[in-house]
Amino acid sequence: MRALILGGTAHARQVAQLLKDAGWRVTSSLAGRVKNPKLPVGEVRIGGFGGPAGLARYLIDEAIEVVIDATHPFAERISVSAAEATRAVGVPLIALHRPGWSEGPGDKWIRVDSMQEAAQRVARDYHHIFLTIGRQQLAPFAADEHNLYVIRCVDPPRVELPARHRLIYSRGPFSVDEEKRLMRGNQIDCLVTKDSGGEMTRPKLDAARALGIDVVMVNRPTLPGGSRITVVSTPAEALEAIDKL
Ligand code: NAP
Repeated sequence: MRALILGGTAHARQVAQLLKDAGWRVTSSLAGRVKNPKLPVGEVRIGGFGGPAGLARYLIDEAIEVVIDATHPFAERISVSAAEATRAVGVPLIALHRPGWSEGPGDKWIRVDSMQEAAQRVARDYHHIFLTIGRQQLAPFAADEHNLYVIRCVDPPRVELPARHRLIYSRGPFSVDEEKRLMRGNQIDCLVTKDSGGEMTRPKLDAARALGIDVVMVNRPTLPGGSRITVVSTPAEALEAIDKL
């Protein structure tokens, strides 16, 4: 009973625990982007596989019987790799994708389809912008020489940044009060976030709503689907789906 979890999320760590408790031998795979990642229970391997072919080879070599893609909804390439590799090798794939957020009363959200669109929009319409998009997709904001960007990420960015910026190195979760303090303290008038979904990073949206701050919400990429992939939205559902296999 060998499972591979494609991880890098809190849900992936929860699945690792559930599967281990159920008697599986679990290996979690991380991309290696974060210097000191939170580690799941069980075995951990770090680094890319070398595309779908490399992942397919790994599945065969390690005699993996099920793959759980519990990566972040914006980690598109590894999800495509998982879909292609499991199809090629004939191993079942469970895709754990938590639902995105939806706008409620009092929210002022502007939905965009790409980080480029988000960057153009905020440069034009706002002055003190709070970026909570990680450090990999900051480049489109660098062209703005006028507005202030408060950038929160875990590790230092390796791309050019906007001329006026403040970096905050911090790893969540953050409470609504902490988020409000940060937004008020920096006179934020716009929050930029990916539509990651989930409760852990939701407080920034509640804080923005309470303070009347606009949110530029970057829509999710389309992830692989089809009848061969079992899509679930919680770790418990992932375990149920594996039980049924
Ligand atoms: P990505 O664009 O889909 O992946 C780029 C490449 O990195 C993949 O082709 C793969 O390399 C490698 N990779 C990604 N995830 C991997 C994993 N779990 N195990 C082994 N290799 C992996 O992904 P990304 O957006 O850079 O995200 C990287 C990791 O950070 C993911 O595991 C994700 O869950 C986590 N994360 C991402 C975000 C986000 O906003 N993107 C937020 C929080 C956490 P090969 O092709 O060589 O196999």
